Amino acid sequence: MIDSKISKVGGYIESHLIPEVVLAFPKPIKIDKGYRRNGILVGKSYGKPKKRSPTAPSKRVKRKKLPSIKSLKAKADLTFSKWIRNRDRNVCFIGKSDGRYKCKGAIQCGHLFKRGKMSLRYSEINCHAICSHHNYLDNYEPQHYISAFLKSYGEDQYQWLMEKSKEIKQMKRFDYEEIIKHYENKK
Ligand SMILES: [Zn+2]
Repeated sequence: MIDSKISKVGGYIESHLIPEVVLAFPKPIKIDKGYRRNGILVGKSYGKPKKRSPTAPSKRVKRKKLPSIKSLKAKADLTFSKWIRNRDRNVCFIGKSDGRYKCKGAIQCGHLFKRGKMSLRYSEINCHAICSHHNYLDNYEPQHYISAFLKSYGEDQYQWLMEKSKEIKQMKRFDYEEIIKHYENKK
């Protein structure tokens, strides 16, 4: 490079003697443009922000993942079913009065009005402990369950259930949580 003050030969030189190339490319001045995140200026940068070391604990508070509605529904079904079977002391409700078929299989939670009716899915009066055999047969011969119900509860209760079954109920997360909490603690 050419020194602006002293020429190679050792003497002083006039500035107009400095080659144009040198003047046309002055040393660039560094301008701090700031640190941008997604194109938005977030602050002056004095070097890039430091990366967190992979071993350092994150400062971000992680939100707890909520259980899905599907899993809550399954848990509510199981908790309620356990309670019903316990209440009926694992004795088949239909088998008590039905002489045609003998009880078989595990005791389940049977629904007089099917469990697709959400308004009665978790109704204590609509559900009873029923063996898997009678529960299966109930899909084809519902009269056995109905007559057993009428014997124990009477016509009025049956009509009340009938009306209730027509109601449309939307179950929310909160409803399932309430059922789980209620039947886990109910004796
Ligand atoms: Zn049975």
